[in-house]
Amino acid sequence: MGRIVCKFGGTSVADASQFRRVKAIVESDPRRRVVVPSAPGKRNKQDPKITDLLYLCHDMAAANTDFSGPFNQIRDRYVELEKELVGRDTGMAAVMETFRVEVAAGAPRDFIASRGEYFSGLVMAPFLGAEFVDPADYVVIDGGGCVDPVSYDALGKRMSDPAKLYVMPGFYGRDHHGKVKTFSRGGSDISGAIAARAVMADLYENWTDVSGLLMSDPRIVDNPCHMDLVTYREIRELSYMGASVFHDEAILPVHEAGIPINIKNTNRPEDAGTMIVPKFTDSKYKIAGIAGKKHFSMICIEKSLMNKEIGFGYKVLGALCSHGISYEHCPSSIDTMSIILEDRQIEGKDEQVLEEIRRLVNPDKIELLGDLALVAVVGEELVSTPGMAAVAFDALRAAKINVRIINMGASEMNLIIGVHEADYENAVRALYSAFVKL
Ligand code: ASP
Repeated sequence: MGRIVCKFGGTSVADASQFRRVKAIVESDPRRRVVVPSAPGKRNKQDPKITDLLYLCHDMAAANTDFSGPFNQIRDRYVELEKELVGRDTGMAAVMETFRVEVAAGAPRDFIASRGEYFSGLVMAPFLGAEFVDPADYVVIDGGGCVDPVSYDALGKRMSDPAKLYVMPGFYGRDHHGKVKTFSRGGSDISGAIAARAVMADLYENWTDVSGLLMSDPRIVDNPCHMDLVTYREIRELSYMGASVFHDEAILPVHEAGIPINIKNTNRPEDAGTMIVPKFTDSKYKIAGIAGKKHFSMICIEKSLMNKEIGFGYKVLGALCSHGISYEHCPSSIDTMSIILEDRQIEGKDEQVLEEIRRLVNPDKIELLGDLALVAVVGEELVSTPGMAAVAFDALRAAKINVRIINMGASEMNLIIGVHEADYENAVRALYSAFVKL
């Protein structure tokens, strides 16, 4: 019998009643053998997330201010969970007191942030009658924040008994020097994927508070359609371009092993959710979805005969690299090259970067244009179906939206369209209605 790895997000472990739902879900299928909890999230709109409170504790302690406000909120939530779920003192108050001393003594930021998941695991493991696995002993995270593949083998050996139930907190591991290190925010999705890969699970279930993914942002599009089936490539593009719910870096570990992902709702476990699969088979719609983001800028460079100049692109991109800037897209034509990057990448450095590019390639013209939003139309069928670009541009023309830049990714399954920020929401709506009607 193959195993299922289940990751439960912050709202799925927000309070004792949610922990009980988790238990019912785990116990309802004997293949669910590895549980990866997040830190408790919001219980209601005003409620803080434990991870945010932990970062606050760190920042207040680092500024030598009294951090007892956020600390007491954290402590009370875990002590309450222990009381409600176990019904007796199992030492949580003492664990929290030790932690308070560690924070006061200047514990590192990542260590403090990681405790949200760690304490969740400490409560979850005895509650489920499972073995606790500390990811700091097995999951190695490199300097760039990515998992080191040695982790799969180590973790796989640690959780090798298919009959046992294991609880491994999400979000953290250790760096190459053995210090606790976290992934980026929302990183418990990555931990779940690593665990699934490590035990070569049949399925990675990602339990959250929605019944799967939607084809567009419901804050922009009214009642967007549900995605039943989507490929890894599609979901990675969509998550990267702003579709929330699933961390874009969580695809890789399971993709490499071909393990399907099922996004499920802890509050409605009977719903099928969204299946994320390796290969495209069929789809009700011509696209998987539409996502997008604001706050981009574009460096536009013009130089006659740029196409003949060997090393032109190398020098321009080298200038970005030397300023530690990462860029998103780089469309070009014979005599022009545009580099699209997030505003925050270039903020405060724009003059120096432009000056360096001028010095390196002596362009006829160079300028930095802001106020750019990117909309991504994503779908495996986008290129193989004639007329898809026409659908997009007709829709934008009808909505009177000026297209500033177009880029079709090398993967040929995403069409990126740049518009003014003020046109962003209208562009998403126009594209969505045009493509779902097909
Ligand atoms: N607790 C972490 C965060 O809030 C990681 C996660 O929940 O996935 O970002």
